[in-house]
Amino acid sequence: MGTVVSMRVYGKEEAFSGSLWDMVAQLENTLLSKSVEGSEVFVLNRAIEAGEQKLQVSDKLYDYLQHGSRIFQDSQGAFDLSIGALSALWNLDAQTGTENPVIPTEEAIREAKEYIGFQHCQLQDNTVTVDARVQFDLGAVGKGLALDEIRASLEQEQVTAAVISMGGSIMTYGEKPDGSSFKVAIVNPFHTDERIGYLELKGTNCISTSGSYERYIEVDNNRYHHILDPFSGYPAKSGVVSVTVVSDNGFESDALSTACFVLGVEKGMILADKYHAQVLFVTDSGEIVMSPALEALFVKE
Ligand code: AMP
Ligand code: MG
Repeated sequence: MGTVVSMRVYGKEEAFSGSLWDMVAQLENTLLSKSVEGSEVFVLNRAIEAGEQKLQVSDKLYDYLQHGSRIFQDSQGAFDLSIGALSALWNLDAQTGTENPVIPTEEAIREAKEYIGFQHCQLQDNTVTVDARVQFDLGAVGKGLALDEIRASLEQEQVTAAVISMGGSIMTYGEKPDGSSFKVAIVNPFHTDERIGYLELKGTNCISTSGSYERYIEVDNNRYHHILDPFSGYPAKSGVVSVTVVSDNGFESDALSTACFVLGVEKGMILADKYHAQVLFVTDSGEIVMSPALEALFVKE
């Protein structure tokens, strides 16, 4: 998933965390990846590109698309798993760190915007029906939903405690043997080798951060980051530089961190609340704004 994964599992042999890692790699390669040839999303996108309009998908992918479609509705389109045409145009994952990055023309952006949005997609009985050549991109939820899959294994194996970290998404699980709480650091978006503080959490939680510092290109002194605003077609400018969401569900923590980044503080708070999630924003000016329930759990540094 283009990120660093680390796992700490209490009370299990090391081989067990190896099996979790295999599971994540398998999920990426057979289902989620939009670039691995043969993954389900890759095949789906190719078929739509070739003009097919009615496509059958696996139970899992169907679930993910439905879940994503609900958040699309609830975020008024700010969160969009069918954003593939636009994200491919910007191609920020591949362009990050390259010498001469290019930004798309306004014309190309205008055109790509016609091929995004769940208003073009109907989901019924494991079938996706599209009325435009949309492309799916599950990049905003991959890590979070992998955490949900891992959680199911931890439950099945009766693991007592674990901390699983996949790039911007982390899951704390169970109770540590010494009863202490989990400490999850939040990166300082202005100095990414520092942190702004940490969350002290008990039990099972999924914590996802979306930040404009994660992947971006710079052209003519302007920064273009990887979280796109489906309305403008450009990287989201909502007054925030990082958003951290805490939820008991990995898919939702990951989706909502992306969604809240696009929506900004006011609307983001309302959306997170609707999903019983807590959110912490770092604004452009460095202010920290969070859900009241997080105040007691956040230790500022
Ligand atoms: P994250 O780092 O979890 O916030 O996810 C960012 C990734 O999600 C990007 O690299 C894109 O692949 C994709 N993406 C960008 N903008 C959006 C959006 N508005 N809704 C859904 N996915 C998006
Ligand atoms: Mg996300």
